[in-house]
Amino acid sequence: MDIWDKKKRSEVMSKIRSKNTKPEILLRKALFAKGFRYRINYKNLPGKPDIVLPKYKTVIFVHGCFWHGHDIGCIDSHIPKTNTQYWTEKIIRNKERDKNNMIQILSMGWNVLTIWDCEIQQKGNIDLLIQKIANLLH
Ligand SMILES: [Zn+2]
Repeated sequence: MDIWDKKKRSEVMSKIRSKNTKPEILLRKALFAKGFRYRINYKNLPGKPDIVLPKYKTVIFVHGCFWHGHDIGCIDSHIPKTNTQYWTEKIIRNKERDKNNMIQILSMGWNVLTIWDCEIQQKGNIDLLIQKIANLLH
C-alpha cells in the first residue's frame, strides 16, 4: 500500500515541480558565484534547457529525479505504489523526450550536461559539482 491516500498523493505529486525547483536555484547561484553567466528557460533550443551558457555553447538540464526517472538506486526516483503503471509510463515518456531533446541539441552543435537533483542536494557536494562542470567547460 501507498503510505498516502489518493488525495494526499496527488497533493504530494503536485509539489514536485519541474521548473524553478530549489536544487536548480542552488546550482544557478553556485554557478553565478563562480563567474558563470547563463540564460534560463532558453526557448530557442529543444526542451527549453534550464540553464544555457552561450559562451560555452553548453546547456544544462537540471532533472528532478522522480519526473525524469533517475537510475534505480536513487532514493528520490521511486515509482509510487499506487497507479504504478500510470507513473511508469509517464516517466518512460519523459525519458524518451529528454533523450530526443538531447540528440537534437547535440546535432545543433551544443554540448549537453545533465545534472540530477540528488547530485545537487547531497550535502557539501555543490562545490565539487561546480568544479566538475567547470572542468567540462574548459
Ligand atoms: Zn537522483
